[in-house]
Amino acid sequence: MFGHMMQLPLLISSLIVHAERHHGDQLVVSRRVEGDIHRISYRELAWNTHRHMELYYGVSGSGRVLHTVNPRLHPDQIVYIADHAEDQVLFFDMTFWPLIQAVAGRTKTVRHWVAMTDRAHMPAAEQAAKVPGLLCYEELLEQASDRYAWPVFDENTASSLCYTSGTTGNPKGVLYSHRSTVLHTMVAALPDCFGCSAADAILPVVPMFHVNSWGIVYMAPMTGAKLVLPGLGLDGKSLYELFESEGVTISAGVPTVWQGLLAHVEAHGLKFSTMRKSAIGGSACPPAMIRKFRDDYGVRVLHAWGMTEMSPIGTAAAFKAQHHALDDEGQLAVMSTQGRAVYGVDMKIVGQDDASGAELPWDGQASGDLLVRGPWIIDTYFKGEGGNPLVQDADGNGWFPTGDVAKITPEGYMVITDHSKDVIKSGGEWIGSIDLENIAMAHPAVAMAACIAAHHPKWDERPLLVVVKKPGMDVTREELLAFYEGKIAKWWTPDDVVFVDAIPLGATGKMQKNKLREQFKAHCLPRS
Ligand code: AMP
Repeated sequence: MFGHMMQLPLLISSLIVHAERHHGDQLVVSRRVEGDIHRISYRELAWNTHRHMELYYGVSGSGRVLHTVNPRLHPDQIVYIADHAEDQVLFFDMTFWPLIQAVAGRTKTVRHWVAMTDRAHMPAAEQAAKVPGLLCYEELLEQASDRYAWPVFDENTASSLCYTSGTTGNPKGVLYSHRSTVLHTMVAALPDCFGCSAADAILPVVPMFHVNSWGIVYMAPMTGAKLVLPGLGLDGKSLYELFESEGVTISAGVPTVWQGLLAHVEAHGLKFSTMRKSAIGGSACPPAMIRKFRDDYGVRVLHAWGMTEMSPIGTAAAFKAQHHALDDEGQLAVMSTQGRAVYGVDMKIVGQDDASGAELPWDGQASGDLLVRGPWIIDTYFKGEGGNPLVQDADGNGWFPTGDVAKITPEGYMVITDHSKDVIKSGGEWIGSIDLENIAMAHPAVAMAACIAAHHPKWDERPLLVVVKKPGMDVTREELLAFYEGKIAKWWTPDDVVFVDAIPLGATGKMQKNKLREQFKAHCLPRS
């Protein structure tokens, strides 16, 4: 027997329709690339659109797929993913005009390049001629009607696409649906996660291309919170000013971004007058940062863990009732874990390389491969790239292997102990170690190369290249670093090279980078 409840699909357009009807006066405030502060209410937004945030609703809401691209990728990678995704229209800020000129003639399927600006800021005619199919965003809007009836379609329809280079080989596409997005948003807004309400002002420091700014662009209209978008001003001073002037109560970002903010606030003896919660994830948040926010500024850090493949939220380190009785140190220990699973996400740890997939105990000691399942977790990569990623359990359930190694406490708090994927995370952004190794391996004097993360005080991690030379051949550190020029984005270039006699190999012939990391854990990078 079925229940007698209405069958209304969970569509992204319903978020902005709700915000318009019930939070019409609430604001979306953006610091634009033009430098000024732009304000628009949810009511106006629902009729008229304003650039990035608005594309989230216009594109997905009309049944198309919004593919967000990380502009810091090398142009070759941008061309690769635009072709792979078969992108037809590409929207860009004028800041990226040089990049657009570099990729425009090379993509196969893009028909229109839309500059997100007004006529006055469009490139001059002879410049514009270099990009066939160039259009002006504001002009397109002027030509279109203010009214639009959102189409209703199956909630499982694809809504947006993000490529992740967190996996080996080429970047792979993660294709979200309307249903997965709306469900994820509902849970992300819960009190033990972002805890976002109509009385909040939320500022995502995380870029909109990083897993849909962790869902915040959907969460704000759903809850009626004010949304504050920082634009290019991610330095401590700009962020602090925006926090204060807009009365920001909740923010979110990777650990490195907070270093700049805390340094600015400390240097000038400032306090936060409205900020109460800062969600930190993307890489492990140092306990010292959590402590500083709490003890010096009265801001609660919510340490959270997730992945592009998980929309992204999986766990968040909110207290249970019993933790309120703990002393400061005890509470800090709970807050420093990656947190417990939110509703909708199930997780387990299994023995590393254990084919039976037997679950390990939640005793805070045993660590193993972390597997997850849930309605906003990937089933397959776009176009089936890389085959079926899921691991089947004895009951036939598919689990997504996160590539992280973790332990889980008896209370259900998860702690990441290692990243089995071996990629390097610099300032919260992936650097593909395989790509870096492949380039090094192309050098005639290199027999074997492994790229590992070395600790960096500002960027958390930077690539360190470990090289075995071919017998009788010679190459210097400088020659190898110069070899990267023009082949990858400049910030992907390793910070240092060390030469070794051999790289340890495992039973299946794979390089054991965990051993290398151990060997070079105290390595001092020259530029740091
Ligand atoms: P991405 O898909 O780029 O968001 O990266 C996901 C990966 O980032 C995860 O698989 C983890 O390895 C890492 N990560 C995310 N959040 C955390 C965290 N709080 N602590 C440690 N690692 C994290």
